[in-house]
Amino acid sequence: MDDPLTLTVLGCSGTFPGPGGACSGYLVRAGGTSVVVDLGAGTLANLQSHVEPGTVDAVVVSHEHPDHWLDLTLLRNAYRYVLGVSGVPVYGTEGTRRLAATLIDELAPTLDWHTTGAGATVDVGALRLRFGLTDHPVETLAVRAEAGGRALLYSADTGGAWDPGELGRDVDLLLCEASLRPADEGTFQHLSARQAGALARSMGAGRLMLTHLVPGIDPEEQRAEAEAAYRRPVALAAIGATLAV
Ligand SMILES: [Zn+2]
Ligand SMILES: [Zn+2]
Repeated sequence: MDDPLTLTVLGCSGTFPGPGGACSGYLVRAGGTSVVVDLGAGTLANLQSHVEPGTVDAVVVSHEHPDHWLDLTLLRNAYRYVLGVSGVPVYGTEGTRRLAATLIDELAPTLDWHTTGAGATVDVGALRLRFGLTDHPVETLAVRAEAGGRALLYSADTGGAWDPGELGRDVDLLLCEASLRPADEGTFQHLSARQAGALARSMGAGRLMLTHLVPGIDPEEQRAEAEAAYRRPVALAAIGATLAV
């Protein structure tokens, strides 16, 4: 394929944005198709460094926690009041729809909301998206994106009880959350970097990138913990980074 599957990091702070940072948000592109997966605080600004927001083919929101979708409210403002765009498909859980509807007085016609869940498959242009349930206090969707024979798996937020199952087969890049210090494993439904590394190893993932990095935790220590478990080099998500999956 001339235009292979790529991932661009729009934001990678977990829980709240660090200085100059942005919360979770990723641009996934292939074959001329652009899908935004999560749209946390600060990501709409960064999105515009890579694509015209009006050309985004769909938005996916993994779950209702605000660090994953608050900028959807402002993307809707841009579409409705400035860009004159309507009917943009948004895929998310019922919980996210309910919360979004309280902040956005009318989702339609600007946003074409599709409530989705684990087991669903959605084709958006050149991208095939599949969703699975993670281990998190609210309904949370891991997202597998495939195109041109390559596969990206995004963990969204999850604890250690997540089993990717079918979604974890033949993954070229695992984009995995790493929110906790090792001493805090099991205290919240999130992963430590060590757990992310162990998960990548057990799945046989081709590469591992850590994201949802919580301000105040040393990312280089997290990288070392993940590499010790994965036994291979590990990348840290960084705003603006684009890589071929
Ligand atoms: Zn989060
Ligand atoms: Zn969460």
